[in-house]
Amino acid sequence: MRDKLTWTNNELESLLRQLDIALEASGIGIWQHNLHKNQTRWDHQLQIIYGIKKELFDVIWLESVHPEDRDYASSVFQRAINARSDYAAQFRIIRPDGETRYLRSRAKYFVDEQGEGCFIGAEWDVTDDILRSEQLAREREAAEASRAVAKFAADHDYLTGLLNRRAFDEKFAEFQSTVDAASLCHLDLDHFKEINDRFGHSGGDAVLQHVGDILAKATREGEHAARLGGDEFAVLSPFGLSRMQDLVSAIRRELDKPVILNGESYTAECSIGFACAQGQEIGALLKASDVALYEAKKLGRNNAQLFTPELAQRLAKEKQTLKDLQAALRANEIVPHYQVQIDAKTGEICGLEALARWETADGVRPPSEFLDLASAHGLMEAVDEAILTRVLLDIKRWTLLDIDVPRVSVNLSAARLSDASLPKRLEAMAAPPKSLSFELIETIFLDKVSDQIKQNIRMIRDLGILIELDDLGSGHASLLGLLELRPERVKIDRHLVAPILDHAPQKQLVGSLIDIAHALDIEVVAEGVETLAHAVMLTDLGADILQGFAFARAEPAHQITARLVASLRGDRADTKQRAAAPAAG
Ligand code: C2E
Ligand code: CA
Ligand code: CA
Repeated sequence: MRDKLTWTNNELESLLRQLDIALEASGIGIWQHNLHKNQTRWDHQLQIIYGIKKELFDVIWLESVHPEDRDYASSVFQRAINARSDYAAQFRIIRPDGETRYLRSRAKYFVDEQGEGCFIGAEWDVTDDILRSEQLAREREAAEASRAVAKFAADHDYLTGLLNRRAFDEKFAEFQSTVDAASLCHLDLDHFKEINDRFGHSGGDAVLQHVGDILAKATREGEHAARLGGDEFAVLSPFGLSRMQDLVSAIRRELDKPVILNGESYTAECSIGFACAQGQEIGALLKASDVALYEAKKLGRNNAQLFTPELAQRLAKEKQTLKDLQAALRANEIVPHYQVQIDAKTGEICGLEALARWETADGVRPPSEFLDLASAHGLMEAVDEAILTRVLLDIKRWTLLDIDVPRVSVNLSAARLSDASLPKRLEAMAAPPKSLSFELIETIFLDKVSDQIKQNIRMIRDLGILIELDDLGSGHASLLGLLELRPERVKIDRHLVAPILDHAPQKQLVGSLIDIAHALDIEVVAEGVETLAHAVMLTDLGADILQGFAFARAEPAHQITARLVASLRGDRADTKQRAAAPAAG
């Protein structure tokens, strides 16, 4: 390489031309600023970048800088001046044609041959780079946002915005390993099917959203509300019992405020079970709150129940009872006891009601101790079948004893009555004609009777079995249903019968029911006849048949056999005397 000092003018000129070409090709503009003289030179390229023609020494740079960047750009330059140091900045300019461009600028401080401080700088347009990276940043942001949306959708219920089941399970698992204590409430909307029926699908959705909003508002930092599915919700909390009690009260208070659905005011009702646990026990919270919820539902809905060990114990006992009941059914320990029915005109036994009893080694258990359980677990049909089978067996035995068997009334649950296989079973059982009557619970006599039930009832009648409407006046039957099914008999509910001696309106009501039944050609049985005074009054009111403790309680088959044999002996006076004597115990 040759020494710079020995370059000829020609060589220098050629070098400068090459530099010019290179600068033009790179789009870099060059400036020089003399601090002492306050003069700025721009080369041709820089004037192109700024889009202006500048007089040789004019200092007009800042006028082109974007107003928002002006303070920044001048302060960076000023700092470089003060420190006599290098300068680097990026700012926007606005060109005379109105276009905004981004420039990057680098400069070096030096002292020229006159000993004056100067900066020499290069400036170039980075607008395309900046716009491209801004675009990339926007795209990245959008991608992140849509990822967040997808994550939210995967974790949340679309309708209520609460956590969904999967996310809730995750939170629950997380709780088990991270918190020392936790509480959980489990909610289930009551009558959700009816809401859907009454207000349509959108009404149902609106109620679910309403509950969702209430839960979302009631929860605090650290608590998680979820829709577990259908009309089931839960709130998981890292706080203890008193907080959970407050939370449950707050939720119930809000639920009590009505919402407007299709222009109608509606108050949503929820059953709530809640539970608290510590440490190892937290894993069992879901089950515990579920047990409490089950109890809340059982206690008539729209209430909240706290899980307690006693509750668990009771449910465990229920479970055991259910097992025992199943075994009892297999062992034929569910048997009928019989309560006599008396002809109001003659005072003679004219019928028997078969009432289910559970005979255990420890004594006899009444239906109140096992029928609800049987009903809740689909065992009602089995109970009814067991009783009917045994009743037919007893009728056969009495017939063999030459006893003039009175008609036996057997209670038939709604489940059994709607069972499609009932007619076939009845035919196979071959009950003797006029030996049976079926007592149907009042609810069956609602306005709408299913075709299956109608068909079964027709079949029952064809077999010569009477149809009785049980518990008339207990609240569920309708006159329309009564007209449609036309039972042969109605039984006036014992709760209506009990007060007739002391309350004239009750007496009138019973009298009217008897009159209506008679007008429809329906025989009337009065049940719950507890005293002879009742018997006399009911007879006066026109009741055809009387049944109650005034005559006898339900008795086991062998005792009834003795009763029937006595009446067979023609020992009428004796029978009447015994039947009329209030039964003991
Ligand atoms: P229900 O059909 O109304 O039966 C009459 C109930 O009243 C019987 O109670 C009977 O013991 C009681 N009772 C009779 N006389 C009097 C009286 O003078 N005063 C009072 N206070 N009560 C009297 P039980 O045997 O405990 O039966 C209760 C209910 O269980 C029955 O009410 C019936 O609904 C149901 N049930 C009983 N056995 C069966 C069955 O085999 N199948 C079905 N599906 N239900 C049954
Ligand atoms: Ca009955
Ligand atoms: Ca009854």
